[in-house]
Amino acid sequence: FKNRAGSLAEILAGSTAHGDRDYIVTADRRISFREHAEQVAALAAALREEYGVGKGDRVAIAAANTPEWILAFWATMAVGGIAVGFNAWWSARELDHGVGLVEPRVIVADTKRAALLENGSVPLLRMERQVGDLVRRYAGAPLPTVDVAEDDPAIVLFTSGTSGRPKGAVHSHRNVCSVVEYHRMNDALAAALSDPVAPQDRRYLLALPLFHIASLHNLAVPRLATGSTVVMHQGAFDMDEVLGLVARERVTNWGAVPTQAHRLLEHGDVSKYDLSALTAFSLASAPSSTAFKQRLREKLPFAEKSLVDSYGMTETCTALTAASPADLAETPGTLGRPIAGVQLEIRDPLGIPLPDGEEGEVCVRSAYNMLGYWNDPQATSNTIREDRWLHTGDIGVVERGRLRLSSRRSDLIIRGGENVYPAEVEGVLAEHPEVQECAVLGVPHADLGQEVFAVVVTAPGSGLTEEQLRDYARDQLAYFKVPSQWRITHDRLPRNATGKVIRTAVRNDI
Ligand code: ATP
Ligand code: MG
Repeated sequence: FKNRAGSLAEILAGSTAHGDRDYIVTADRRISFREHAEQVAALAAALREEYGVGKGDRVAIAAANTPEWILAFWATMAVGGIAVGFNAWWSARELDHGVGLVEPRVIVADTKRAALLENGSVPLLRMERQVGDLVRRYAGAPLPTVDVAEDDPAIVLFTSGTSGRPKGAVHSHRNVCSVVEYHRMNDALAAALSDPVAPQDRRYLLALPLFHIASLHNLAVPRLATGSTVVMHQGAFDMDEVLGLVARERVTNWGAVPTQAHRLLEHGDVSKYDLSALTAFSLASAPSSTAFKQRLREKLPFAEKSLVDSYGMTETCTALTAASPADLAETPGTLGRPIAGVQLEIRDPLGIPLPDGEEGEVCVRSAYNMLGYWNDPQATSNTIREDRWLHTGDIGVVERGRLRLSSRRSDLIIRGGENVYPAEVEGVLAEHPEVQECAVLGVPHADLGQEVFAVVVTAPGSGLTEEQLRDYARDQLAYFKVPSQWRITHDRLPRNATGKVIRTAVRNDI
């Protein structure tokens, strides 16, 4: 499998062929491919004329989801610039760090982010007011011709910061065009297998932040290439609003992080919405327990035939493995097989590949692997090693060709020489009917090196005690995995934009 490359500017230039079909649909707007291309050309001219953006210059985007986010992204591609997606959840201090790191020529910011960035030295282009004005002022401008090479950087997106400070993963045109090629191939395969919905008639829900690979590289970009539609939910995640949009716009594909899927399970009555167009419901970005996936499959009428779990990371632009509905029916905890174009190996701490069934670090090589981290050669060389193999920092095992993850390397607890995987202990505790969620961490211990600490969130009104939890855990886990310290609380765990528990925050609290 050899991925065809190209540039994002070429994909953009080709998009006018999709004419008056819908590219982006929101609750109150419809933007066709033709309108989009015209607006992009105008905004690209403005970026050049007003802000001097040229090849290799960074344009940072700091905003919640809106069609203008996508517009600013493509306008940056049109002038050969590098689009940098800032996390819209960042504080002023985190935004400052991002600005210092990538030194953008301009920041396209919505009102909320602009308020946090106002005192900086980089010009702000206000998303709500100025983008529209500039598009009108430069209306009719032709799409610029740019000379970008396949291996030039195109996008910088930040990791979620689950294990430390977020790092800026740099993606080349080749990386992202390879993701597009993967989507094209999947569409062609589905069509050949007599999928009832033609590829260009698919409608994809976008309800995850655009500063994330799941939304940008795997939704907004391939839809422009293939002529299918993005159905964008805006504002805070409100399940009734989202379900209404899915029903009204006949969404066929829905990608969710586990926290969103949780809300769907907790929703009183999904059946009042017509979700009959939905043929693919995929989980991504964060771990979810086997019990939870089984509950989804049992309770949601569409999930049994459509639930997919996929594993990927910012550094690789897309999913690395995906578990199909059949995989999940057979082995509920699996993350499935590598997707086309991904070579995956499990390696020991010295970097030696391990046979199937043995646990080690997940390492990957693919056309999707990032160029490196922006301005951070040290982190880059820790991650991308010999022969372009990327070390993910995730510990897992391959059995019968399918991957199962045990934990992150940095979360592994070593208690008196025994390995304890937080995810395993969390999975057991989460099955207790009175436990809403939990986090298991290693804390220092004088003799054992580390011991196991559990933070357990119980439902309001629950009287669950430490003794009861310990007895419950003892019944199901080897003695060394049973937490020796507990905190029982009704407060929800802190989570980041991709729905992952922020362990550093939990740790600071205990
Ligand atoms: P940082 O790298 O800054 O610590 P992060 O790793 O959480 O943050 P992302 O790139 O958003 O940032 O997340 C990728 C990680 O998320 C993977 O390395 C893996 O640990 C986890 N992950 C992604 N998808 C899944 C999944 N389906 N199941 C379990 N874990 C997943
Ligand atoms: Mg990571």
